[in-house]
Amino acid sequence: MAAKTRIVIDHPLIQHKLTHMRQRETPAADFRRLLREIAMLMAYEVLRDQKLRTVTIETPVAKTEAPVLASKNVCLVSILRAGNGLLDGMLDVVPEARVGHLGIYRDPATLAAVEYYCKLPDDIAEREVLVLDPMLATGHSAVAAIARIKALGARTIRYVCLLAAPEGLDALHASHPEVTIYTSAVDSHLNEHGYIVPGLGDAGDRLFGTR
Ligand code: URA
Repeated sequence: MAAKTRIVIDHPLIQHKLTHMRQRETPAADFRRLLREIAMLMAYEVLRDQKLRTVTIETPVAKTEAPVLASKNVCLVSILRAGNGLLDGMLDVVPEARVGHLGIYRDPATLAAVEYYCKLPDDIAEREVLVLDPMLATGHSAVAAIARIKALGARTIRYVCLLAAPEGLDALHASHPEVTIYTSAVDSHLNEHGYIVPGLGDAGDRLFGTR
């Protein structure tokens, strides 16, 4: 796998939807729907290298050979709670994926990652793992989540976010250079509170209407 790979999925549909998500006045219901739709579009690109096998099927007209996914081995790991916004759209397109949840919050004073919940599939080591979190800000949560997943033996790990700050991209690549990062945009910088600028605010609050 190529080292320190970052892929910006900047399809016009994604950029359009992202602009609506960024807008302050976009209500939580629309924000949730837009994130789900973007996740589906990103999955199309992120999973483009999935292997296929051929099966024999019968259409109403004829017997034929047709491709299906070779294995059902994807594991989606949502970093709570905002990761669930990406998870829903990903599951729409890979409903057979296993799902794990990692609860990690940022200590508001130090911005360090603190784990408070972990439930991952027992066979995660044999699966292709996609770690989901809309905002790659400092990268602390992403670095901690991937270290946790690696400790369980997983070897094929990708990271999928909606927005990335240059600081987060650098931090994640410095700690886990083999992990390919997918994002739909790279923003300018982090502010003094660790928020992505211009960003879209707190993704969890905007998803769940908690502020
Ligand atoms: N987490 C968020 O939800 N938003 C940011 O801008 C940074 C981290």
